[in-house]
Amino acid sequence: GAAVEFDGVSKWYGNFQVLRDINLSIPQGSRIVLCGPSGSGKSTLIRCINQLERYQQGKIIVDGIHVTESHRSLDSIRREVGMVFQQFALFPHLTVLENCMLAPIHVRKMSAKDARALAIEHLEKVRITNQAEKYPSQLSGGQQQRAAIARALCVRPKIMLFDEPTSALDPEMVKEVLDAMVALAADGMTMVCVTHEMGFARRVADRVVFMDGGQIVEAAPPGEFFDSP
Ligand code: ADP
Ligand code: ADP
Repeated sequence: GAAVEFDGVSKWYGNFQVLRDINLSIPQGSRIVLCGPSGSGKSTLIRCINQLERYQQGKIIVDGIHVTESHRSLDSIRREVGMVFQQFALFPHLTVLENCMLAPIHVRKMSAKDARALAIEHLEKVRITNQAEKYPSQLSGGQQQRAAIARALCVRPKIMLFDEPTSALDPEMVKEVLDAMVALAADGMTMVCVTHEMGFARRVADRVVFMDGGQIVEAAPPGEFFDSP
């Protein structure tokens, strides 16, 4: 089955319709890049996947779980789906290592020893083991974002969501974060990325989905998407 399935999903903020009849099937192991103008509903769409936003119409199924407003659904979804935000959202009073150990201990109920080993494994993948004992404020933006990716991966999610992960970074740090995302894609992770990095989309996406006014107006492989007239 699909990793994520949107079936006729609509959402309103008051009278304002932000999502209009979204139908989208995201196969396991695929990589979707969502693009489109600011305010078109991209962020809202991915935030509906892990229940950061509710929707009023249609149905979202994540790895067989119907995303409803129940706590049971919320708990399951948050274990399946990791998210990386524009602002790195690390806990400032915890070291990078402690940030990464938090979910394995509290969500996965791992021992501190196992959580530490898992955290170090993922910090190695994003190439910042040498920053493990530092606090977020001591890191560059690019390092913080890579730490945030490692932290999300420590939950062992099946799906990763990225909401403009490089938009808050200085240009020279964009590449190191995109490289970490490319590596994750190479590992076969299911990824849904809101990004304006079209080079990344071309290289990594199976499908580029273009949104406008709360609707999906085009969805095509990057070759077709970028080369269509
Ligand atoms: P994008 O990610 O494509 O920039 P968003 O999903 O962030 O778009 O927002 C889509 C539209 O919904 C925007 O017009 C935004 O102002 C509006 N919006 C977002 N969040 C809220 C909210 N909590 N209440 C009302 N309107 C909102
Ligand atoms: P971003 O561009 O990073 O997605 P936004 O500025 O669109 O951030 O939104 C920041 C926060 O404000 C979000 O939590 C969003 O839901 C909320 N928000 C955005 N637009 C509106 C709006 N028109 N009314 C109320 N809340 C909004």
